[in-house]
Amino acid sequence: MIIISSCLIGLNSKYNGENNYDKNFLDILKEEIIIPFCPEQAGGLPTPRSPAEISGGDGFDVLKGIARVVTKDGVDVTENYIKGAYEALKLAKIYGITKAILKSKSPSCGCGEIYDGSFKNKIKDGTGVTAALFLENGIQVISSEEFLKGKNKTKK
Ligand code: SF4
Repeated sequence: MIIISSCLIGLNSKYNGENNYDKNFLDILKEEIIIPFCPEQAGGLPTPRSPAEISGGDGFDVLKGIARVVTKDGVDVTENYIKGAYEALKLAKIYGITKAILKSKSPSCGCGEIYDGSFKNKIKDGTGVTAALFLENGIQVISSEEFLKGKNKTKK
């Protein structure tokens, strides 16, 4: 059983009310039970919502209280992001889940790379808030990009 960012299987949980559907993620269902989850929605944010990025660090820093998550309009949504991350962790613990596939670059779900806080479509090294909390709790996180690269490799 694995947790997956809900937008990857076509649920319209993305900030703009759309999704990041790719058939490859639904194909996982042939082999495993997947639990779709959106930490931003679970943290109490509406859909659609203003896009947000992490300012002053990454998800690990947000969890330590030294970085913030701020929307493009300047609203501090850090507490929503932290709440959503803990809801995701709660779900993982209920089901004993030890692996997650999360959408790359997202301030919640990104792993290894996230948007840099400038809202200029720039990337920096770092991890989103939920992905960071998962990693701190021994849950393996595979970024959606990494997963798709693996798929392409096996096709060759
Ligand atoms: S928070 Fe994660 S699951 Fe929710 S829309 Fe963003 S990337 Fe997808």
